[in-house]
Amino acid sequence: MQGTDFYEQILGLTGPWFVADVQLDMEAQQVDVFVEHGEGETFCCPDCDRQLPCYDHTKSRQWRHLDTMQFATILHARTPRVKCPDHGVKQIRLPWAEKNSRFSLFFERFAIDVLLATQTVKGACSILGISWDESWHILQKAVARGKDRKQSKNLPRIGIDEKAFRKRHNYVTLIYDLDKSTVEAISDGHDTAAADACFDQLSDSEKQSVEAVAMDMSAAYVKSTKGNIALAEQKIVHDRFHIMKLATEAVDKVRRSEQKKLRAEGDDRLTGTRYLWLSGQENLSEKQQERFDAAWKAELLTGKAWAYKEMLRDLWVHDTPAEATTFFNDWYKRVIHTKLEPMKKVARTIKERLANVVSYCTHGITNAVAEGMNSKIMAIKRRVGGYRNRDNFKTAILFYCGGLDLYPQ
Ligand SMILES: [Zn+2]
Repeated sequence: MQGTDFYEQILGLTGPWFVADVQLDMEAQQVDVFVEHGEGETFCCPDCDRQLPCYDHTKSRQWRHLDTMQFATILHARTPRVKCPDHGVKQIRLPWAEKNSRFSLFFERFAIDVLLATQTVKGACSILGISWDESWHILQKAVARGKDRKQSKNLPRIGIDEKAFRKRHNYVTLIYDLDKSTVEAISDGHDTAAADACFDQLSDSEKQSVEAVAMDMSAAYVKSTKGNIALAEQKIVHDRFHIMKLATEAVDKVRRSEQKKLRAEGDDRLTGTRYLWLSGQENLSEKQQERFDAAWKAELLTGKAWAYKEMLRDLWVHDTPAEATTFFNDWYKRVIHTKLEPMKKVARTIKERLANVVSYCTHGITNAVAEGMNSKIMAIKRRVGGYRNRDNFKTAILFYCGGLDLYPQ
């Protein structure tokens, strides 16, 4: 078949390589491209780059290339070997594929684009016409390549957070770059050792560049951060969203116990009001707003707890830690004299770590990035239908959220 020049251009081949033959198999919908090199050429030893004559060849091998005109395109070649005085007999590096890959570089680059665009391994398989294992292998290699190339950078604002894998009790800990929205480290578990293992994945200069760390109020993460980051006490910011979540949960606890009591007395004023207390006012429909107002006017404990929760939002509007502290102390005094035990517990928890809550005024960070990334990770997990095991899950997170340079050269 004609078209050898055409395929040389498509493959980007330059001397000493040329396309010796192209065969079209109509039945198999396949184009076979046979690549050879000129006589008397020299090649580099892969270990020392010394120019050496061809010693012999391997058996003919195949590489899947990008389809041409909807035909699966297969490259065929025998890889030359050189005999280096220092390194012995070695296969040379081929310009169209990475060592041991069954795909050409063009194909791998395209596969990475497809994996990123479809966000599912399965979806990529059907577009690329390759198996799940082959797609997964390309993804895995891309992550390994990206990790190898990763260079130390500045990480002024980071977040540390946990993420449940499958059911509860099966966690990974993640460190995020809050400025670039990337996952910088992952480890198994969510205790101090897990956080330490994450920090170990950062270089010393990266750790030194950290100015602020957002996190929930877990003692394990505080302890680990203090052990890994200098002057951590001034840098830790307990995340606003985690704290507001605690306060919202406290409102719900108050509602549940009050509801139980009222029901026993045949009072159903709180029945069906859960959503009203837990969602933001701005999310309520007109009808829901009416119901909320009625429940609110009933002067129940739940309404009181809700009001304290709403008041707490203002903790994050102050300009200085001193002003925020004054605000909190006032809020604390009011809450602590009530009978709202769950809310009092939240107040005490915040008080204990107050310096690292009001540090928000200095650093202005939250784990909102982490929360956003969380939903991205959840979506990836759902669409792929589980990653078989936790290691695969971690690899996929780095592929989609690691900000890595994934492509082969
Ligand atoms: Zn050599």
